[in-house]
Formats: sequence, C-alpha cells, structure tokens
Amino acid sequence: MESAANRLETVQANVARMCKPARRKPSDVTLIAVSKTHPAERIEPLLKAGHRVFGENRVQEAQGKWPALRDMYPDTELHLIGQLQSNKADEAVELFDVIHALDRVSLLKALVKAMDKAGRKVPCFIQVNIGDEDQKGGCAIAQLPEFIEQVRGADIPIAGLMCLPPSGTEPAPFFAFLAKLAADNGLSGLSMGMSGDYETAVQLGATHIRVGTALFGERG
Ligand SMILES: *Cc1c(COP(=O)(O)O)cnc(C)c1O
Repeated sequence: MESAANRLETVQANVARMCKPARRKPSDVTLIAVSKTHPAERIEPLLKAGHRVFGENRVQEAQGKWPALRDMYPDTELHLIGQLQSNKADEAVELFDVIHALDRVSLLKALVKAMDKAGRKVPCFIQVNIGDEDQKGGCAIAQLPEFIEQVRGADIPIAGLMCLPPSGTEPAPFFAFLAKLAADNGLSGLSMGMSGDYETAVQLGATHIRVGTALFGERG
C-alpha cells in the first residue's frame, strides 16, 4: 500500500503541474488535508512528513483528536470545512484557525459573539450555493453582495469564497463562476476542489483545496 507521505507527494506534484499552465505558484495553493473520520494514527504520518494544514467537518470529532496532536505539532493550522451550527460557534472559534462555511446571518451573529468572547478573530470563507440547489448549504448567489457587506460590517475577516459544486456534474463552470463572484466582490481567496476535482480547481484559481480521499484513502 502507498504511504501517506507518498500520496502527499503525488498530490503536491499534481498541484505544481496544474499551476504551470495557469501561471500560478504552487505556494499560492494551500493544501488542506481533510482528516475527518480518520483516527490520530492515520494523521500522524502526514504530520511527520511535514504537513501542517488539516481540515475537519465536525467540531466534536475535532475536539477529540486535535488537542493532543497539536501539543506535538503546535504550528498546525486547523480548518473547519463543514456546516456549522450556531450553537457550536464558541467551540469552533476556540479550536479552528479558519472556518469555511459562513453562509447565513444567524451564524454570522453567533460567530461575532464567539470571537468577541474569545478575543480572537478567525478568518471565514463565505460558502456560496453555487449550483442553486435547494438542499445545499451556502449563501444564495442573489444575496451574496448583501451578505458580504454584512460580514464586512461585522468586522469578521473574510478569507474568500467557498463552494461545493453539484455532485455528478462537470465542476469547472462552477469553479469559474465562484472565481468571478470573488473578483466581482473584491475577494481573493477561493476554497474549491476536492479529491476528484482539485486539479481543475487549481487551474481555475483555487487558493485552498480540500483533499481527503486522495491523501488518506477511502473513509470507512
Ligand atoms: C469531506 C470533504 C472534503 C474532502 O473530500 P474528498 O473527496 O475525500 O477529498 C472536502 N470538502 C468538504 C466540505 C468535505 O466535507
């Protein structure tokens, strides 16, 4: 079986390869290793290989795994990539360095309160419902300019825009659309691309790719 360190090298090489034709620098793309559902023993090899940026989608699961790992690797940067419930805002702000799914006013209010209480500002990506899907989280495209203004008004640092394209469709048009929305609104960060489509996302300007399976193998 291929080791985690080998997989990391492969993904990094793919990112570098896609950067070239797009005239981008690999260092402008942050690889978030999505370690959700994987135990600490599976995460440690990547930490040992020098990787320091990880993503989790559940606050409680991350609280169980990361404090101990962080004691060993204090320079680790932890991203919350999944939906966040407002009642978990305090815990999320304590544990995570970046939050990727700010998508509604109620959550904005909860995060403002949590950041005031913690005395720390956590940069947030605004998630956009890029495929306009009923069941999907994310700010509606029509409401995005207004929501961005509200987040700016609340003095929360905006890391950029984040999306999950509709499954089973060609993702490139959605990535390109997210990049346009970010440019139109004066934002530069783009959290887009997962194991199946991160190369396309890099070509289209992703600054943060969220890769789980390609680094850790299938989730159980
Ligand atoms: C699980 C998850 C990923 C990683 O997915 P893979 O296909 O395993 O790379 C990326 N983004 C979000 C929001 C996720 O929940």
